[in-house]
Amino acid sequence: MSVLAAEDFLSTAERERVKGAIGAAEKRTSGEIRVHLEDHIEDEVLDHAAFIFEELGMHRTRDRNGVLIYLSVADRKVAVIGDAGINAVVPDGFWTDVVGVLKLHLAAGRHADGLCEAVHMVGEKLVSDFPLKQDDRDELSNEISFGRS
Ligand code: CA
Ligand code: CA
Repeated sequence: MSVLAAEDFLSTAERERVKGAIGAAEKRTSGEIRVHLEDHIEDEVLDHAAFIFEELGMHRTRDRNGVLIYLSVADRKVAVIGDAGINAVVPDGFWTDVVGVLKLHLAAGRHADGLCEAVHMVGEKLVSDFPLKQDDRDELSNEISFGRS
């Protein structure tokens, strides 16, 4: 079995679509969404996503409302985790719902659609508790990041 590399998972156009979905979501909320893709992982996915969250500096947003959508592409391990500010107001089941929707799309080969839908779901959730503020900055890049763990 050939191992799918994270950087080959999406075409250039699909990467732009995902980036655009993040930008669109962040026009309505102060929350910051990131998508991170890796080749594969041995670790438990939630633990590993928490590690990546720190490594990407996602805990440094003003309102502690960063959300990471993590995917290891070869084994289709998915985690969606939010910082303390958003975790305080989002029911636990919500992250599981987003993971479920993303996995359904991935299983059907709709990689970009799944990531865009996950971004959209998270964005809609963030809007009510963290509406956009006038002095909003793009605190975390909207570009997909890649790792080869
Ligand atoms: Ca922002
Ligand atoms: Ca951003």
